[in-house]
Amino acid sequence: MSNFRYSIVAPCYNEEENLNELYRRITEVMEQTQESWELVLVNDGSADRTLDLMIDLHAQDSRVHYINFARNFGHQIAVTAGMDYAQGEAIVLIDADLQDPPELILEMIKKWRDGYMVIYAKRSERKGETWFKIWTAKLFYRIIYSITDIHIPLDTGDFRLMDRKVVDTMKHMPERNRFIRGMTSWVGFKQTGVEYVREERFAGETNYPFRRMLKFAVTAITGFSHVPLQMAMVLGFFVAVLSVISILAVTIARFFGGEAIFGGQATTLVTVLFLGGVQLISLGIIGEYLGRIYDEVKARPMYVVHKAVGFENTPE
Ligand code: UDP
Ligand code: MG
Repeated sequence: MSNFRYSIVAPCYNEEENLNELYRRITEVMEQTQESWELVLVNDGSADRTLDLMIDLHAQDSRVHYINFARNFGHQIAVTAGMDYAQGEAIVLIDADLQDPPELILEMIKKWRDGYMVIYAKRSERKGETWFKIWTAKLFYRIIYSITDIHIPLDTGDFRLMDRKVVDTMKHMPERNRFIRGMTSWVGFKQTGVEYVREERFAGETNYPFRRMLKFAVTAITGFSHVPLQMAMVLGFFVAVLSVISILAVTIARFFGGEAIFGGQATTLVTVLFLGGVQLISLGIIGEYLGRIYDEVKARPMYVVHKAVGFENTPE
């Protein structure tokens, strides 16, 4: 049996300026439910005072529990650890930088009571983010949507409420390259969304520079789609058909005109370079999948915990 009705899970990487405010806002919101809750903070190898603040918060309020990682493992892994340790009947994932308004949790809880198992927050607007980030994100969600079988709702982040059953199911999904929002869609059950305006960060800076965003996008695509692997075959067929047509054209031209229609070294060079490029790209795609298979085969633990404070049971 769960000890708490709700677990609020927040991954934290260098969030010293946001943590107290996060605690204040969450407390304010959760008091309104008049039910039991815990706040699960995951310190993902922060280099600032984030851990000290967690220790203070726990001393002040025993409902604050924390997990301290041995190093930085990344956002998705931090969220996973939080889900592994959370003890509530409903688990809410929220960013620690207050870009996700805690007040929305009450709306999610209402839907959960109506019988929904996953309630994700859909961004109707994003404030304080660069034009570039907004558009690449938009494009990314649409690509994912069109090339995967499971339907990951457009413009949603990890801000969501999940029933215990969903979280327990996800514990049996041991992939190391994790894309949590896709994994929750994959699980199924009755899901719905609530809309919100994504606020600016309360303080600090984003930890998702372009390089990380790109890696994240590749994880999402390779984790949920084989389309990139199949693209090489489609392209292969296309080039093969094109070359048969060219052979015919050249032969016929030779018979009737006597002149070679694809003359010159440039034609040869361009064709060879084009095919070389296509082959290298295909190899790269295979390599991308292969690297990920290798990660899974090694079967290393997903994260290393230095200390977990406030939890009754530790996950096996
Ligand atoms: N985060 C984390 N580990 C990381 C990077 C980020 O736990 O390596 C946390 C961060 O503290 C925040 C959340 O993940 O609570 C989202 O990160 P961020 O705000 O940097 O991303 P953005 O909102 O810009 O996409
Ligand atoms: Mg943020």
